Order: sequence, then C-alpha cells, then structure tokens
Amino acid sequence: MPLLDPDLWTGKVFTGEWVDTGSTSEAVEPATGKVLGTVGRAGAEQLAASAEAAAMAGERWAATPYQERAAVLRRAADLLEEHRDEIGRWVQREAGKVAAATQLELALSVEELREAAALPSQPWGHLLPTTRPGRTSIARRVPVGVVAVIAPWNFPLNLAMRSVAPALATGNAVVLKPASETAVCCGVTIARLLTEAGLPPGVLHVLPGPGGELGTAVADDPHIGMISFTGSTPVGQELNEAAGRRTKRMVAELGGNNAFVVLDDVDVEKAAAAAAYGAFTHQGQVCMATGRVLVAAAVAAEFTDRLAAIAQGMSVGDPLDDVDLGPVINRSQAEHIDDVVRRTVEAGAEVRAGGGRDGLFIRPTVLAGVTPDMPAYAEEIFGPVAPVTTFDSDDEAVRLANGTPYGLVAGVHSGSVRRARAVGDRLRAGMVHVNDQTVNDEVVAPFGGVGDSGAGRFGSFTNLDAFTTWQWVTVHEEQVVPPSASA
Ligand code: NAP
Repeated sequence: MPLLDPDLWTGKVFTGEWVDTGSTSEAVEPATGKVLGTVGRAGAEQLAASAEAAAMAGERWAATPYQERAAVLRRAADLLEEHRDEIGRWVQREAGKVAAATQLELALSVEELREAAALPSQPWGHLLPTTRPGRTSIARRVPVGVVAVIAPWNFPLNLAMRSVAPALATGNAVVLKPASETAVCCGVTIARLLTEAGLPPGVLHVLPGPGGELGTAVADDPHIGMISFTGSTPVGQELNEAAGRRTKRMVAELGGNNAFVVLDDVDVEKAAAAAAYGAFTHQGQVCMATGRVLVAAAVAAEFTDRLAAIAQGMSVGDPLDDVDLGPVINRSQAEHIDDVVRRTVEAGAEVRAGGGRDGLFIRPTVLAGVTPDMPAYAEEIFGPVAPVTTFDSDDEAVRLANGTPYGLVAGVHSGSVRRARAVGDRLRAGMVHVNDQTVNDEVVAPFGGVGDSGAGRFGSFTNLDAFTTWQWVTVHEEQVVPPSASA
C-alpha cells in the first residue's frame, strides 16, 4: 500500500487519527495547475483542542524510555527511505521541485530523523555544587511541552522535519502547521511517517489552515510552550510580537538577502558557476539563495558574460522532465519577481539573460549594473534572479555585503584563502562560507541568521537549546527546615 494513500487523508486533518473538520483546500501542481488532492483545514477552535490534547499526550511521551523515542525516529527515517520515490514525486509535483533539489530535500529529511534519534540518549544535565550539606543539586533539561511548528513551502518536508524530529526526540508533543501550498508533501507525509513508525496517538497533530488565524491562536494558546517558525520576515516578526506578549519562546528562521562576494583574484569560471548555483537552485526560492552577487570591477565583465551564458543554457519546464528549473510556486510569487525585475530595469539595470516569464515559468535572469538603491539589490526576490553589483576594494565589498537589515548567510570566493577568510571574518551573517556560494545546509551545523533573518538556531547540538528548557532540582535525603534568616 502506498504510504500516502489519499483514501486515508482526503479532506481530513491529523489529530492522532484523521478527522473531518468540514473545511478543505486543494493541493495544486504549480507546473500544470492540476489538482493533486484535497486536504482538510483547521481553524482556531481545532488548534486549541489539538494543543490541549497534545499537552496530555506529551506528558506520557516525555516519560517514555529514551530508547523507544529514538526507535520511533529511526523507523521513520527507514520508512522515508523505503517510500522515497512516492514521497519524492509528491515533493516534485506539489512544490514544483526538480529532481536534484528533491533528492537533496529527501536526504536532509532522513538525516534530520537520524540525528534526532541520537538526542534522547544524550546526558540531560549537570550535577551542581551546593552550599547546603546533604543536598543533591541538579540542573536538568526538560521538554518545553507542546511545540508549534509553522513551516514554509520552499523546502516543505525538510524545513518542517528539522523541528518536528528534534522536538519529538527531546520529549515534546508537536502541532505542525504546514504551508497551504504544500500540505501533502509536508504535513500528510510527516503524519504518515511517524504514525507508521509507532508514534503514540496525540503526540503529533497536523493542521493545515489559514496562517493568520492559526498564528494568532498559536501565539495565545496556553498549552503551547514554544514556536518554531520558518517563513518570511514580516510574518515572523508579527508572530514574534504576539508570542512575546505571552512571553512565549520562538525560534525564527526568516528571510535573507544574501551576498556572494567575488574578489579580483578568482578563477572566474568557477565563481560564475558557483553564483549560478547560488542564485538559481530551486528557482531561487531558497532562504539561503544568493540574492546579491558582488563582483570586483576588474573581473566583472568576464564574470557577467560567463554567468549570463550559464543562465542562457539552463532549461526551464515541468520538474518531472529532465530540466534545470521548474515553476515558481504560485502566481503572486511570479508577479512579485516580475515586478522587482521590471522596477530594477526601469532604474537603469541591464538584462543580460532571462527577464521573461511564461506563467509560473521564469527564465534564470542576470541583471548587470545593479546599484544599492535598486529594488533587486535592496529586497529579497525569492526567484531565479542574479543581480550583479561591482566594487573596487575589499573594504567596499564588506560594506556592501553588510549593508542590509538581513543577516542569514554570506559567501566569498578568492584565489587566496587568507584573503577570503579576512573578508569572511568581517561579514555579518549567521553563516559564512569561504570559497563557496551561499546555499549550504548540513543537519549537524547550527543554522540561522541575525538581524531581520531571525533569532535562534536549529541543528545538532543547538537543538537541545531550542527544544528544551533548564530546570533546577534539589533533593535532600530527609525533610529539612531552612535555617532561620537570623541564624
Ligand atoms: P510565509 O508567507 O511567511 O509563510 C510561512 C508559514 O507561515 C506558512 O505556513 C504560512 O501559512 C504561515 N503564516 C502565514 N501568515 C501567518 C501569520 N500571520 N502567523 C503565523 N503564520 C503565518 O513565508 P513563505 O512564503 O511560505 O516562505 C518564503 C519565506 O520564508 C522567504 O522569506 C524565505 O526567505 C523564508 N524562509 C526562511 C528560511 C530560514 O531557514 N531562514 C527557510 C525557508 C524559507 P500559509 O501558507 O497558510 O499562508
């Protein structure tokens, strides 16, 4: 039987079982406009019921022996590998993702589950010194309770899994709200994998639904102890404000406008190929995408020629065919990309490749002569556009790269690793890649940004900080009465 058999989930949300809420939406394939399926949708009332049920189920889950929690996550990883083709096809069709990006997403998701399976057996605290004789004093990690995971559509499975798996591993229950565009390849898939892997009912709830309504409900809900939000900066900041009113912890992984710096001593061919990867992977719909290509004036002409040639040689089409780029996710995203390119060209930039679109299919676009006052430089594009800006010195490159409210990731290429490191050390970003472009993700590395790109980190050891809190516990062998204040 297929893992994602639509008979199980059509028109339903997941609360430990598949239930009808009376509200549905369609999963649409961006490449063709075809309806792929129908999912259930939840509102604030269902969110409240799920959060309460998750809090109760979570207490039992946290008390489950650590080997059992780890085993569930390992089995989910095995199932994901076993059903790789079926799940991959959903990712390709629902998220509009070409084969290479789909394989990357599946591989990262498997690794997230396997890495998370190692967390339950980690040491959980410290034995503390104490001033009181006969007292055992312990600092221990405890789960935060119920974690709300709000996920985007661009790497839907992986970006949800990087929170769901470690949150469960550390003894939390989870309420997952997938993006509306990718409710099946994110939400349904995660529910099915973990159910089949033996996760007890009620520990995971999957609630597709309207972001605004569910976001407000998540921020206010007394049972939800923490929010993991991955998405755009304006939405993340609004949600963080609402969560702050409840002093609720939130890890925010937000937008980026990432600089790739190309110094004047590079191998231009390698730098141009790296820039093409950074700017055009998954149609540029990657938070780590190279949004600004900063190139030393001395090599800018040759670099831009090569980058434009690479872009012109790329194929665009249905991701199920053997193409380099698929469609962008929806019409509003396509119109946004068009609008940024149009305004940048009106402001004086030159189109060196691409610049046109056919529905949701946008050709990889190279813009030359881009200056910091132009929209393609100043805004997150989230599309297959490489704006090229020139600089005259390493100092100017650093100033340009850091001249943004975002701070997710930066990359620098140079023929001299010493020089590249010196520039890299001055870049203000949560992640810096020396002699590489900006799109890099490894589940064992701390992932996250500074400034408008977010707060908090995911990945490996930082997951313990993200998904647990500290509790101080003292134990006396016998009942004690504290010494009086005057003693
Ligand atoms: P988005 O519009 O902010 O949506 C992200 C998620 O938030 C979706 O599940 C969405 O639900 C939900 N949402 C919408 N309004 C909400 C609200 N008022 N309160 C709470 N949740 C709400 O972002 P997106 O368009 O899906 O993703 C693209 C953005 O995400 C880009 O800016 C990109 O850079 C960023 N991103 C960051 C990272 C990172 O790790 N730093 C990774 C990937 C993407 P609906 O779908 O139902 O609207």
